[in-house]
Parts: sequence; structure tokens; C-alpha cells
Amino acid sequence: MDAIVSEVTERLGPGHANIFVAQKMMMEDEILLGEFIQVIECERLNAESAVEKTFDTYAVLLDQVEDVYMRERTADINEVRYRLLDMLRESRDETGKMVLLDHRLTFEDNRIVVAEELTPSETILLDTEHTVGFITEKGGRASHAAILARGLGIPAVSGVQNVLGLLRDGTEVLLNGASGEIIIAPSKRTLELYPAIRRVRAPELHAVAPVANLTVLANISRAEEVGSADAVQAEGIGLYRTEFECLSAGRLLTEDEQYDRYAHVAKVMKGRPVFIRLLDFGGDKPASFLDLPREDNPCLGLRGARLLQERVELLIPQVRALARASRHGAISVMYPMIVDLNQFLILRELIRQQIADIDGAALSHGVMFEVPSACLEADDILDAADFGCIGSNDLVQYLFAVDRNNSLVAGDYQPDRPVLWRLIQGIADAARRSGKPLSLCGEIGAQPQYLPRLMACGINTVSVSPRLIGLARRTAAQLPS
Ligand code: PEP
Ligand code: MG
Repeated sequence: MDAIVSEVTERLGPGHANIFVAQKMMMEDEILLGEFIQVIECERLNAESAVEKTFDTYAVLLDQVEDVYMRERTADINEVRYRLLDMLRESRDETGKMVLLDHRLTFEDNRIVVAEELTPSETILLDTEHTVGFITEKGGRASHAAILARGLGIPAVSGVQNVLGLLRDGTEVLLNGASGEIIIAPSKRTLELYPAIRRVRAPELHAVAPVANLTVLANISRAEEVGSADAVQAEGIGLYRTEFECLSAGRLLTEDEQYDRYAHVAKVMKGRPVFIRLLDFGGDKPASFLDLPREDNPCLGLRGARLLQERVELLIPQVRALARASRHGAISVMYPMIVDLNQFLILRELIRQQIADIDGAALSHGVMFEVPSACLEADDILDAADFGCIGSNDLVQYLFAVDRNNSLVAGDYQPDRPVLWRLIQGIADAARRSGKPLSLCGEIGAQPQYLPRLMACGINTVSVSPRLIGLARRTAAQLPS
């Protein structure tokens, strides 16, 4: 555990390391140790079974707890369980290199991680050096875990029911992230059909020069990714999902920590446009450190802009950090999950008051179009706002009432439906009428089957993961001018 704590501190900072400090404390807990010993002595079970049995009891208890924060601790407790079991089952070299989630993952290269579910923060924390693919039982194409995997260039297939029951640790698996195919224990003949099989590493980032008919910006989740965006000649940052900085730190960041990150992004972009989104927590991005009330329907609950209005203590340090950072280069502030014009105006006024004392700030204020009601009000919103950005991932979810994370309805998560395109056309027309810039930062922006349609609607700026910038540019370059 000490080795893990120092590695995590070095790689990700003390915030992350605290998770593992807490795990170490659990392992040293006298009461827990007493319970193991009692099971061994009274039930005559071996040490491994005693660990399993004791943790099972805790899992059942935690599962019954109403409090979401407490229930989410099951994952931490299970991690302690697996670490203990691993140490008991195998005598291992104590100096063996440990990784973040499960040291088995570093055994060798070319590991495919199979899990029931990967949360956004777990995906970010995975030992991606040694991970060449993800398979999950839950989740959909537009889930944040899938978006992050795509950003890392790692093939991922989600919504594979019962896959954990079919696979054992160490099973050989062929995984095709593009088609969603998984072949378990492929025969030698099958393997011969895949001559490129050894080229499993994520492809290097290759820059494709900007094209005349489309501006392509980069989506990032961490400030350090601005380097990749720059390397592929992104024409700016079109979406910085700032909440991921906190999700990966396991806590809210202070104003100064946020300032450092935003200023870094603005400096590296050297005058290119930088769109930074206000913290977009809630819904499919729960954060235990926010201590939010338990909701029956979090995707329709306290999330995005609504949460920021309710919890201004989240908003204030962020907008002050943004205002200070904008001295290094103008910043466009994106308001997430805006429902109507009134909500935008109230929030913008609140922000203006909070930063009134900061000299030299260069902020503009715009709206994410991802809730259908805001899209229907695009004319009025764009008259008032400085810019708009279509968040098609959530727009599809809310327009068709289909959960973007639920593999059971993944077949219905369908951007092809004409109503979506009518709505997008309406927003594009409103942007033209108001003369305000409009971009799209959802996943469809990089997909060759949708990008030409977006451009035909009059959208000529998209923001996509740095790895997909080349694809978007190649698609656009092939279109007749
Ligand atoms: C969207 O909803 O399209 C979007 C870009 O935001 P996120 O995927 O982070 O919800
Ligand atoms: Mg969204």
C-alpha cells in the first residue's frame, strides 16, 4: 500500500493518494482483523475464506444503506478485499510494481480490462500503459467511460451482459472496438485471420493539417491534455470538461488550483479559442465528495446549471479562477444543461457579480444546447448569449428519453432520427440569424456518417477528442466544396 501511495502521489498528486491511504487504514483496522480471526477460529475456515466471508457481511450491510455516499464506499471496501486476497493467494515479491486499481493488471502487457461497470474516474485512473481494451457489462456508446476510452485511443465494448461470468482472469480475448465483436478464447485458425493482432497499442497521435471548410477544436478533460490538442494542431479547445479534474482528484479543487489549470490551457493555446465548461456534475457524473441528496431520478434532478444555482460555493471559485486565467488568453465560458433563457440570464448575472472586482478579465458567456427546451428557444438564447454549442450526447438522451449509459436501450440511442436533425437545423438557423458562433461538441461531430450532415445544416465548427481531429478533417476534406 505504501508503494501504491507513493506512486499515485507522484503520478496524480496527494488527492488521489488519499483513496489508498484510506484503504491502508482499513487493512490496519484492529476490529476487522479481529473479525477475520474469529471466523478462522470459530468456523475453521482458511484465511482467504475468512476475508471473503467478513467482506461479504459488510457488502450486504452497505447495500442496505440509503445514503448514496456510503453505498459507493462498497467499491473501496471491495478493493481492499481483493488486495488482501491477492496477497494471501500468491506469495509475491514485495517490490513488484503496483498499479492503481489492481496489481494483476501490470503482470504483462496487452491486458483487456473486463468489469461490470467503469465509472469516469476509474477509467481515468486505469493503468492505460498496459491496458489495450475495455469490456463492460453496463454502459453505452455515449457514456463518459466510452468517451474517455476513445480519447485514450483504447478500444472499448460496453453492454456485454454476463461477460464476467464467461471470462476468467487470463483468458485470451479478441476485441474489436469498431464492430463491438468479442471472441473469447479464439482458436489458432481464428487468430490467423487477424494478421494485425500484435499492433494493439493505441495509435500515435498523427496531425492532419487544418482544412478550409471545417474548424476542428479539441475536447479535453484534464489540463495536461492540451498538449495532445496542440500536437494535432487543434484550432482551439472547444470543450474542457472541468468536472473531470475534480472527479480524478476525488475532491473539489481550490480557486488557485483551478486557475493554474485554466491558465495553462489558455497559455498553450496562444490566442486560439478556448471554451471551458462550468462544472457539470450530477446525473451520470455523480461525485460523492459533493454530498448531494439521494435522488430517484438524478438525470432529471440536481445537475449542471441547476446544481450551480443551488450550490453557488461550487460556482464562485471556478468563475473567479476563469476570470483570472482569461488574462492569459480570452476564455469562453460554457453553461451546461441550460433549460431556458431565464436560467442562463440569472446564472450569468450571478457570475458577473462574483467577478466584478477582477480587472482585465476576458470572458464570454455561451450556452450548451443539450436540453430540448433550450433548443426550442435557441433564437432568444442566442440573441442574449455570446455563442452556442450543441451537446449532442445529452441532446439525444433528453430528446428521445433514452439513457446514454444504459446498455439495455443502447439500440434506441439513435442520432439518425429526423427530429434530432430538425432541432439541430433550427439551432443552426438561429445562430445564423443572430450572427453568433455555434459549434457542436458531442460525439457525432467526429463520426463520418454524421459530420457531413452537420456541415450541411450550416455547422462549420466541431469539437472532438484530439485523437479524432484527423478523422474529422479527412472526412471534411473529402466533401465536394
Ligand atoms: C454532450 O452532452 O454532448 C456533451 C458534450 O457533454 P457531456 O458528454 O460531457 O455530457
Ligand atoms: Mg452533456
